[in-house]
Amino acid sequence: MPSYYEMSLENKREYVCQNNFSVAETPLGSWLVIFLDVDWGAQIEKTEHLREERICALSKISWKREKQEKQWKVEYGQRVASWYHGLKAELSEKHPLLKILVEQQIRNQLINVNMTDEELQYMGVLDGTREYGTEILISHMRLQKWLGCVVEIFVQLQKYQKDLACFLDQVMGDDAGKRGDILHRYAELQYKDWKYRVWVENNYQALSPRFHLSCNHKVYSYTGIAGPVPTGQNLEGHVYMATDSLVALTIWEFDMVCAQEVFLRRCAYCNRYFQPYSVVSCYCDRPVEGKEGKTCKNIGAMSKHQQKVSRDEAKKLYRRVCNRTQMAAHRRKEQHPDILRRYNQVQLYGKELLEQVEEGAMTFEEFQEKFDKRPGELLKYRKIFK
Ligand SMILES: [Zn+2]
Repeated sequence: MPSYYEMSLENKREYVCQNNFSVAETPLGSWLVIFLDVDWGAQIEKTEHLREERICALSKISWKREKQEKQWKVEYGQRVASWYHGLKAELSEKHPLLKILVEQQIRNQLINVNMTDEELQYMGVLDGTREYGTEILISHMRLQKWLGCVVEIFVQLQKYQKDLACFLDQVMGDDAGKRGDILHRYAELQYKDWKYRVWVENNYQALSPRFHLSCNHKVYSYTGIAGPVPTGQNLEGHVYMATDSLVALTIWEFDMVCAQEVFLRRCAYCNRYFQPYSVVSCYCDRPVEGKEGKTCKNIGAMSKHQQKVSRDEAKKLYRRVCNRTQMAAHRRKEQHPDILRRYNQVQLYGKELLEQVEEGAMTFEEFQEKFDKRPGELLKYRKIFK
């Protein structure tokens, strides 16, 4: 198991280097969205429940009681192990980073230099290198103490999650806005928010840069086993950050999201953060509980809210395109005497399309595809106005 993690955030992408030297690529901001989605409250509850388990209704006869106690301890050890495996499976499904870094933090709480043989065997069970058997008798007091530490880790993660949501709320604002808006709000956050400063000051030093070449999502590292690069293939070079700190990676990605002005938005239905596909997407792709096969997006597509956003964005785009086309027409009116008349036709054409958006007969994306063109192109072809 690696003791650290490597992630690269370039070209508005997130590259995660995995154990087997493969590189997983997603849009920048994916990790933030996934981290925010984890229900740490539910994890805390589950863990607390297991920690508080007590043996009850013991027999009054001493040899029977002893047997019962032993039986319970064995079963308890088994329940804790299956909780641990369940947790790992649940976390790794969401994001590899989540599993490795959280698992490591939790595991570190249990290991120490003076472990007994039985404890080492139990560790093997947790790591999946050996089967659980009745001969492994680990102290339930020790397990419960450990579960207590795990709860503390989850509480801490829950706190980080809350802080992160608060940072994002401050920089992302209500709408996509203009370029530079996110950076301006980010500058204000840096200046004003002491929590943000604590995050940065306590965690950045945990990041250490590496440089890797990759080809077809496979890392070619001289320290690795990947072997020579196949000839004639496209190579990519990226700076990766290696760390064992989940918080360090989180704050770094937050900074990169702001620096590259990647817009993340809260879903208008479930209120959770997601990566919008275009300026008008207000709803995420998460399945809605209790509505078989439906996502927030399915439910939100026909909503008044979505229609209003599409209409407003289409109007904004209409004005933008008209302005730049008009300016271009004025610049060329000496050479092309009929160009202002042609501009009027462009304007009418746009108005017609806009009306279709307002009636709900055309999506914002279709409108954008038809109308968001360079002035030269719009003014040249009279055919498109028919
Ligand atoms: Zn949603």
